[in-house]
Amino acid sequence: MLLQSFPEIIDVKKFFSRQARLRAPLPLQLLKRLEQYLNKAEGGNSSAIDVDLDFSQDEESRFILVGKMKGRVLLSCQRCLQAVEYSLSSDFKVHVINELKISGDRELAEDELEVVLSLEGKLDLLALVEDELILSLPLVIYHDEADCNQALIDLQASSRREIGSKAFAELAVLKNQLKSSKSKMK
Ligand SMILES: [Zn+2]
Repeated sequence: MLLQSFPEIIDVKKFFSRQARLRAPLPLQLLKRLEQYLNKAEGGNSSAIDVDLDFSQDEESRFILVGKMKGRVLLSCQRCLQAVEYSLSSDFKVHVINELKISGDRELAEDELEVVLSLEGKLDLLALVEDELILSLPLVIYHDEADCNQALIDLQASSRREIGSKAFAELAVLKNQLKSSKSKMK
């Protein structure tokens, strides 16, 4: 089963038992949380992230999702606040489990994979993929010294600088939340 458009919510059993493979462009406009961290300079961002997802079952019949994602995006340089091109790429492997099966069992505690919960047989694939993309963003990024806009730095009002740093501070907080929500599930 090869899919070429991106479904936001999936039927877990169907996707994993049929060993689905999803190769599709994921339009950036669907990724509202990720978009907040991008520099919106015209024409700089890819219109979509290339997503390649493999749904399979391992020898213990666990649902394993392996993903690779790539895209070119613009972030804001933390020195001059102008756009910096960044090749976004994320590789991940997660174990998808049914929420109802959780009972603090030992099996889960020993799972070395990141665990993602499905609810009533459905998985919010878009949210999962977007979490992984946000986690792959760098916390800070700068132009190379020579490319950085010195004139602009000199003119930069400190208030604008604060706006830029605030977005990154928020990203740091969000990343910590995403990480801790995942480790709690383990
Ligand atoms: Zn710069």
